[in-house]
Amino acid sequence: MILSASNKNKVAIIGAGPVGLSLAYLLAKEGVFVDLFESNDDLSIDLRASTFHPSTLDLLDTLGVNEELIAQGNIVPAIHFRDRKDFSLIAEFDFSALSADTKFPYRLQCEQWKLTKILRARLEAMENVNLHFSSRVENAGQTEAGIFIDVVNQDESRIFQADWLIACDGVGSAVRKSLNIDYEGFFFPEKFFSISTPFEYADHIQNLSHVTYIADPSEWCLMLRAPDLWRIMFPVPPEESDEETKSDRAVQKRLQGLMHYSSDYEVKHKTIYRVQHRVASTYRLGRVLLAGDAAHANNPLGGMGLNSGVHDAFNLADKLLQVILHGASDELLDQYSRQRRYVSMEHVNSQAAQNKELLESNERSVRQAKLDDLRRRAEDPKLAREYILKASLITSLKSAQEVQ
Ligand SMILES: Cc1cc2nc3c(=O)[nH]c(=O)nc-3n(C[C@H](O)[C@H](O)[C@H](O)COP(=O)(O)OP(=O)(O)OC[C@H]3O[C@@H](n4cnc5c(N)ncnc54)[C@H](O)[C@@H]3O)c2cc1C
Repeated sequence: MILSASNKNKVAIIGAGPVGLSLAYLLAKEGVFVDLFESNDDLSIDLRASTFHPSTLDLLDTLGVNEELIAQGNIVPAIHFRDRKDFSLIAEFDFSALSADTKFPYRLQCEQWKLTKILRARLEAMENVNLHFSSRVENAGQTEAGIFIDVVNQDESRIFQADWLIACDGVGSAVRKSLNIDYEGFFFPEKFFSISTPFEYADHIQNLSHVTYIADPSEWCLMLRAPDLWRIMFPVPPEESDEETKSDRAVQKRLQGLMHYSSDYEVKHKTIYRVQHRVASTYRLGRVLLAGDAAHANNPLGGMGLNSGVHDAFNLADKLLQVILHGASDELLDQYSRQRRYVSMEHVNSQAAQNKELLESNERSVRQAKLDDLRRRAEDPKLAREYILKASLITSLKSAQEVQ
């Protein structure tokens, strides 16, 4: 069904990341007119999120994209926590405990750009969607009747108007800044450094899960197989220069420090990230809505940024469609803000912080107590299920629904 444009259902979305594209598709497939603006001339093919949790796969399944997505990813049936000294197993959490809770009882390791490519192809085939690449939004505002944005395309500037505006333009969101919405939180002092290598760690560590958290008081790390390369993420002290971190010498030292190997490791990518914990003071201001990283940011331990952003998209699309198509009160959009802010603060950011504390803990007795607790949970089927429900963001999806 495609509605007539006079039905006040024109939505502008800023940002062709996984969240903006998911929202565009959710709205457009119900007949809403969507204009999506992306500053880059193409989709970003960078190495960022690579984890799709069961809760997100259940949602994406309703868009009919999973077959294509799963075929390009790596199915991980269990996650491991190991000790860095000898890679001994501290705890294993097996997703089969969720077989009654989800159609997809596993973590899918698959780069986020694979999802964006699938969604873009769908959107390009729709007549009620306009995708504007090389179109940077510099300013946004609103009146009672609608929204406007200043869009710059190759030095030419124009004003675009619509009925609703959704900012999915990432952590630096120009829309959020234009509207003076606070992005409350902090930067972590340390940087995060991700190195990708084709080296097959699984040939050297028995029964290694493709998602393995390595606890260590001096240098924790995260090992992910996603899906063709291993990505190893290390913390880097703030005083170390980016040049030094990326030097061949320092890269080899970090990899050799994790596992000694007789020759140099082959390295395909190296990326340094500054990581922040943030939650916008509101996800709704009049006709403007925030979703994904534009609304919240967290450390990547637990793979929750992309996932919770896609959860925002589904929550928001459901409510905005009720407002646009069925004349529901726009107060529903305030509920979107309350529900998803609650998830960011009470679930995502606190879980991500706990994951980091667990891995880096260096006070001997505290560290031992935390690791013992994790082991105890993994060994108790009821506690293990609770843990995986939380880590998979199934608990947070359910508890958001309880927020009025
Ligand atoms: C190292 C690292 C690893 C990560 N790993 C995971 C993981 O395993 N699992 C997980 O769930 N999350 C992970 N994340 C987080 C995840 O990548 C983000 O949460 C996710 O990309 C958010 O999607 P988004 O669509 O909100 O924003 P983005 O992906 O940032 O997309 C925003 C888009 O908006 C465009 N844009 C920006 N400004 C403008 C403008 N002014 N005008 C027009 N367009 C604009 C950008 O070009 C971009 O295409 C990781 C992040 C990092 C840094």
